[in-house]
Amino acid sequence: MKISAFIWLVLTAVCLAQPIKIGDPDRSDAQARYLNRDDFRVLVEEMPKTELHTHLEGAVRPETILELAPKYGADLGVSGVEELKRKIEMRPGENLLDFLKKFDPFRFIFDHPESLRRVSYEMIEDMAREGVIYAEIRVNPVKHEEMLSIDGVLDAVLEGMHQACRDYPIEARLIVSLNRSYPLESAMRVARAAVARQGRGVVALDLAGDEVHHPASKFKEVFDYARSQGLHVTIHAGEAMGPESIVQALESCHAERIGHGLRLGEDPHLVQEVARRGVTLEMCPDSNRLINAVKDLKGYPLIAYKRQGVPVTISTDDRHIFDLTLVGEYMAMAEECGLSLQELEQISLTGIRKSFLKEAEKARLESRWSELSPTQ
Ligand SMILES: [Zn+2]
Repeated sequence: MKISAFIWLVLTAVCLAQPIKIGDPDRSDAQARYLNRDDFRVLVEEMPKTELHTHLEGAVRPETILELAPKYGADLGVSGVEELKRKIEMRPGENLLDFLKKFDPFRFIFDHPESLRRVSYEMIEDMAREGVIYAEIRVNPVKHEEMLSIDGVLDAVLEGMHQACRDYPIEARLIVSLNRSYPLESAMRVARAAVARQGRGVVALDLAGDEVHHPASKFKEVFDYARSQGLHVTIHAGEAMGPESIVQALESCHAERIGHGLRLGEDPHLVQEVARRGVTLEMCPDSNRLINAVKDLKGYPLIAYKRQGVPVTISTDDRHIFDLTLVGEYMAMAEECGLSLQELEQISLTGIRKSFLKEAEKARLESRWSELSPTQ
């Protein structure tokens, strides 16, 4: 199908307020217009997209690891990129412990400003190439401090990120991530370093890691300080633990967004409360599937939460460790959960409206989003 005729078909469906879905085109009726998978994918690729939950540590290209290892004296013990991918990518049947080991071969990347600048640049480049126009990336800056300080990590990541934004039609901001296992003193040092870089692209503080043994309430003081200095707050919660962990993130740390929030639905009253407050869920479908937090994506709760008024977004979480793309995640939600093109567009737009940008920046980006959208 020629793209112009194709877009015309799509626009007709939009004018008739028909949801556009994946399916047999001959089934199209007044209720929905169906497109085959390939045609639907073209529209998802064209769609201006946003990504709010993506870790630099999980977004390092295997090719870059292989190329840089000899320079820094790292022995990967592999003969080529395919072998390296088998080592660092999640495979079906592996679990959370396997996931944590995936990062071991390339920790050296985070010890040097020049390699950090490069992987940060390439992460933004990967997103821009698949049509992401706005991204909030995150990094945990506590690496090997004897090699590179917290300040050194953040400065290098910001430099790579800003350079990529100058070279590609994408905007990005940085979220600084704390690990739940940190002592309070260390978490506060990270928070101070994040606050000091607000004018240079840092917008928020995040909490990640072992949700089971380290409750968010432990970090109340750190998040109170960050908020008092103007940083936003997002907290990983409701992935390994149930609604009680989400309540802690909201009440102790005043989270404006929740990373994952997968298990929110176990408490229907909390679903209503999260919707009422407009707290956004940064959902990462295949990430949840690959670490066995969900069995498959058929009953993935994103659409149920969305229909109950909870703002939801879609992200890759760790794109190279999980071998994912954002287009692939949008397609998975369309194929497995029946989301329409228009619902995916709303989710993309939610990524701007619930971003940690200033209101004027959101308005400017939203008008760019509308110009780029094939159905607006
Ligand atoms: Zn995450």
